[in-house]
Amino acid sequence: MKKIIILLGIPGSGKGTQAMRLVDHYGYEHISTGDLLRGLQGKKDLDEELQQAVDTMLEGKMVKDDVVYRLGFDAIRDALDAGKGVVLDGVVRNNAQAERYHTFFQELGVADDVQVIEIALDDDESFDRLKARIASGYQSRPDDTEDILRERIKVQGNAALEPIKAFYTTHDLLAVVDGRQSMDAVHDAIVQILA
Ligand code: AMP
Repeated sequence: MKKIIILLGIPGSGKGTQAMRLVDHYGYEHISTGDLLRGLQGKKDLDEELQQAVDTMLEGKMVKDDVVYRLGFDAIRDALDAGKGVVLDGVVRNNAQAERYHTFFQELGVADDVQVIEIALDDDESFDRLKARIASGYQSRPDDTEDILRERIKVQGNAALEPIKAFYTTHDLLAVVDGRQSMDAVHDAIVQILA
């Protein structure tokens, strides 16, 4: 059983929900850079780099890679040191991050423990799902408005995911699950990949 599960998926793909299901199933730690950033929102005495990252997050844009590493590396190291596996949710969002995390795992000696799973969904479906989420007020977040949503899909849609997938395909680490299925079916498919 792999200790490091990297979930890939565009916004609205159900990545966060599936991450929580995996955490329940395997007792792994859920690490989401989005959650870590939202956790910083409103905090006083943030340094400039972190404050800027929170502002960028609220605009629906990608935060700088260095901040992602700053938040992600510590959280991952802490969990692995405590003997826990990790589910990484939205932690890898561009090619540079994919490469840097790959090196990070090699440095930690856990590169063989990585499984990457994409929950595949097309951009239009993502937009419809997220719009419905706003309309229902369900799981609404400070960065959930229709304009921000368009920006997030433009910046974080399938075009952005392609080079990351290419990287992981080259390293033979990528498995793909159809994200249009029910939540249960997606979960079952992921568990089967990890078995
Ligand atoms: P999420 O909750 O995963 O949708 O992330 C919310 C926001 O946090 C994103 O829209 C980005 O602004 C920022 N963010 C989270 N993870 C990353 C990452 N790995 N790289 C760059 N920005 C990120």
